[in-house]
Amino acid sequence: MRYLDAAATTPVRREVLEAMWPYLTGEFGNPSSRHGLGDAAARALTAARAQVATALGGRPTEVVFTAGGTEADNLAVKGLALARPRGRAIVTSVVEHPAVLEACDYLARFHGFNVHRLGVDGDGVVDLAEAAHVIDEDTALVSVMLANNEIGSLQPVAELAAIAHRAGALMHTDAVQAMGAVAVHPADLGVDALSLSGHKLGAPKGSGALWVRRGVALEPLVHGGGQERGRRSGTEDVAAAVGLATAVRLATGPGCDEERADLAAGRDAFVREVLEGAPGALLTGHAEHRLPGHASFCFPGTSGEAVLLVLEHDHGIVCSSGSACAAGSDEPSAVLLALGLEPEVAQTAVRFAAVSGADFDGVAAAVINAVSTLRALAG
Ligand code: PLP
Repeated sequence: MRYLDAAATTPVRREVLEAMWPYLTGEFGNPSSRHGLGDAAARALTAARAQVATALGGRPTEVVFTAGGTEADNLAVKGLALARPRGRAIVTSVVEHPAVLEACDYLARFHGFNVHRLGVDGDGVVDLAEAAHVIDEDTALVSVMLANNEIGSLQPVAELAAIAHRAGALMHTDAVQAMGAVAVHPADLGVDALSLSGHKLGAPKGSGALWVRRGVALEPLVHGGGQERGRRSGTEDVAAAVGLATAVRLATGPGCDEERADLAAGRDAFVREVLEGAPGALLTGHAEHRLPGHASFCFPGTSGEAVLLVLEHDHGIVCSSGSACAAGSDEPSAVLLALGLEPEVAQTAVRFAAVSGADFDGVAAAVINAVSTLRALAG
């Protein structure tokens, strides 16, 4: 099996599992317990927090461990907006993950916030002029992702953060897809909060974190024993925190620039081959400012679901027709429609996401074959 669905999830890395193992077995203590086992767990949690903070260039106290990216996004959007002393408006974008969009909708429905979704251009990049126009003194929070899961495009988060701060608003970014794939430094981006998820980079599903800049007020969503400095109650999942920290360290450590360059080179060759060999194919998302291992296309004259089936059954290649959360829905992707694509073209989308350049070897020929077979069948 060739796995090219890394934007949906990745397997747990061996080093990550080995780092977690003690905290699932012998060192199983509760970090709040006042005995040796508890102390060992607390030390592991402290070390994990420091590792995540170091990778982000922040302070350990700024890291809140969560049960994944969805929770981190919810905590950021709701927690920052509800703790905010001013402003009744939230500005986000049409291409955000549902974890952000639904959290914003919740704030609109139950807390009276006005939510504005910024539009995007044909490459899926938000419109900075529109952002400058709508972000004003009534804006409590701006939340725009660093990289899109469906089309891979990178957003001008630093520019948006500058606009937000000029207006006195806070800035959150969802870096779930970006972490490990591009440089992610909250200070350089100028953001106040940033979400991470472990399972996109070799840690288990249900591991994640929210980085929140020191001094920024955050209303907790989960109340209880006051763990995570009162920002997220519940006995900490020490093994998940250790797993996330290890995966983050591996994905951002020495050699990661070379790995990303290798990934982008493999992806670029793959994109060129597909566009040449499958006439009419469209690359969706920005051609250059995109995640290095990410290639997404529309193949007019086919259906995305049919391309997936042929690739898996005839070629053993596993990929996706869009985001995993929208999979199974018959509706064309809102992200692809936001690019200006017709619904019947959006239905032909296929996404490939790899973790190494070699993952793309030989895949273009299979894609070209699948597309031409399906087009021939469709007459
Ligand atoms: N944000 C983005 C951009 C994602 O791609 C995902 C997962 O697909 C999430 C948030 C949600 O993360 P999790 O699956 O850890 O809840």
